[in-house]
Amino acid sequence: MRERLDVLPSPRPSRSAAADRLRVSFEFFPPKTHEAEPVLWETIQRLAPLQPDFVTVTYGAGGSTREPTLTTLARLVSQTDLPAAGHLTCVGASRDEVNAVINSYQDAGIRHIVALRGDPQGGVGERYVPHPDGYATTADLVRGIRACGDFEVTVSAYPEKHPESASLDADLDVLKAKIDAGATRAITQFFFDNDLYFRYLDRALARGITIPILPGILPVQNFQQTANFAAKTGATIPLWLAKRFEGLDHDPATRRLIAASVAAEQVFDLLDRGISDFHFYTMNRAELTFAVCHMLGMRAQTEQRAA
Ligand code: FAD
Repeated sequence: MRERLDVLPSPRPSRSAAADRLRVSFEFFPPKTHEAEPVLWETIQRLAPLQPDFVTVTYGAGGSTREPTLTTLARLVSQTDLPAAGHLTCVGASRDEVNAVINSYQDAGIRHIVALRGDPQGGVGERYVPHPDGYATTADLVRGIRACGDFEVTVSAYPEKHPESASLDADLDVLKAKIDAGATRAITQFFFDNDLYFRYLDRALARGITIPILPGILPVQNFQQTANFAAKTGATIPLWLAKRFEGLDHDPATRRLIAASVAAEQVFDLLDRGISDFHFYTMNRAELTFAVCHMLGMRAQTEQRAA
């Protein structure tokens, strides 16, 4: 047996200590039940010491979580040092109602909004009808937010195009309109094939879109739920991914190991191809996101104040 391994420099960033130039962000949703509340705060407590660039809190379909979203944001501001962003949709609400939410975010100390149109009120697949007195498009909403105060505005992006979109080019026009209205960052819908994301970045760049477009990483907590969600949002589930989870319905421990390795593999490939910002859809669970961040070389910073 050899006594010592020769340590050769690796050309792959994922194999070198690149943690200092990495930036991560985490998405949470407001707890839906009383019991879910401590789970969310334990998750935040576990992830906060990784010092994410920012964290976001979703806004339930059609504004259904308006109060819980605001309560969660207010607690993030008062009890942690995490830069927090509130999601906001304009579907089914008048401008006055939406502006009231923007003002309540501002009063709670929130300076960053993830601006979205929201799904049609009848659900995904139905035709979207803007509220007669509302913001008609996300670009209008972005302009409205910028007019209400000094907010940073992030928007969505769809590497596989939005299901309502006629084409990827039409989708990129919508993204461009949101940027022209004042958005300075985009976060993608989740995807599992990195080539789709890089092709999207190329096409965005060719249209003069230069804002950061963060890849949305979804660690697969539950394969069937992910597949159902993907079917609604137009995201592709590759066959190889389905095969990895095949036959494991009664084996949660192996499923978790596979989920961590799938997410790590995806993130390492993105890192090797030049990406250093990652947005994690945590689904309010810390384990997989924490494991991937740890593998990326990120370490908990103990001085972080969290909940
Ligand atoms: P946009 O990007 O504005 O538009 C999506 C598509 O609609 C366009 O591509 C186009 O096909 C069509 N469209 C829009 N405007 C026009 C126009 N003027 N003319 C023609 N076609 C048009 N939903 C929630 O309810 N709450 C959340 O917190 C939430 N967070 C999200 C976070 C991220 C990162 C992502 C990717 C999605 C999120 N969603 C959320 C889902 C989102 O609300 C839905 O996907 C919704 O259907 C589209 O909203 P959008 O702002 O992404 O739409």
